[in-house]
Amino acid sequence: MDEKIRSRRKFCREITSLSLVGILPVPVLHACFSGESENPGNQLMTDMSKADQKKNNFFEPGYLRLHRTGELRARADVLWEMMNVCRLCPRKCGSDRISGQKGAYCKATSQLRVSSYNPHFGEEKPLVGTNGSGTVFFTHCGLLCVFCINWEVSQGGMGKDTGIKQLSDMMLRLQKMGCHNINVVSPSHYSPHILLALDRAASEGLRLPLVYNTSGFERLEILKILDGIVDIYLSDFKYFDSEMSAKYSPGAETYPEVTKKALIEMNRQVGIADPKANSGILQRGLIIRHLVMPNNVGNTDQLLEWIAGNLPRNTYVNLMSQYTPVFRADEYPEINRRITVKEYRNAIKSAIGAGLTNLDIQG
Ligand code: SF4
Repeated sequence: MDEKIRSRRKFCREITSLSLVGILPVPVLHACFSGESENPGNQLMTDMSKADQKKNNFFEPGYLRLHRTGELRARADVLWEMMNVCRLCPRKCGSDRISGQKGAYCKATSQLRVSSYNPHFGEEKPLVGTNGSGTVFFTHCGLLCVFCINWEVSQGGMGKDTGIKQLSDMMLRLQKMGCHNINVVSPSHYSPHILLALDRAASEGLRLPLVYNTSGFERLEILKILDGIVDIYLSDFKYFDSEMSAKYSPGAETYPEVTKKALIEMNRQVGIADPKANSGILQRGLIIRHLVMPNNVGNTDQLLEWIAGNLPRNTYVNLMSQYTPVFRADEYPEINRRITVKEYRNAIKSAIGAGLTNLDIQG
């Protein structure tokens, strides 16, 4: 091997190590590849032995291995086929999205729509780090919550038609900006598009962990297809009672049962979220978000007891206090206010009383 190339590769390995421990920003890492390969990410993967990876605390997102074997593309195709009679989410409404049929609960067709993408600093600290979480917000959602804070996007259709290549370029751009992960927000109805874009971005050097930022209303069959692709599940667990989910997320009476099974599967796939293992930046694991609602609409105490009894007690649970009565909340007097300090404190007491040990508590 040419001495110049050997020396450049040595330099890349050293600089990679510095970047991964947060000493250098990721753009510097990218700059060091220029001129060596048209496909810098793959080149790096080929060059580094397993011993090198261990030595450098090298993180490889799950989807890279599946990309190399062609499995990622194959799974994207399986999901794409499901849009013929759509059953990508637990609504299983059967809309023919490929031919653009209207009538889907989520209002999505096969045309991808993206509302925005940017480094985001409002997510959990282990996702935000110093440079932000690389969020991509997708238009539409199948859960239809009457209190949705992003209702213009999730139910109003706000966003732009976007191609797979564009989505892939967004991911690469977020990586170049130094984000610590790619965080796909409301991904369920666009999971085929996300996998296709990920496959393309992987071939061009994407190597950030993938965060699947979901309402928790996920089919087991779909989660099994995502096994090995998603590094971090960031999942809501909103309601414990089906009457509540049916009322505030119209028609979603199966939400509690579906979400319980989904959380168990997510935990099986990625395990406990332990940011300490990587200087405070999360690379793998499950984070559960519970939005504390007024008048205990979510049945917070029982919901937390369920988590403590069915998942490891050190499961990362974020107790969210920011409920705001927006969109159609004024049609329901019981949820048409913010929560009180006492309601939030009760939620904390319930979590501690249930034995949960890895709590993200606000304020
Ligand atoms: S993703 Fe949308 S179209 Fe597909 S089953 Fe769910 S609500 Fe229906």
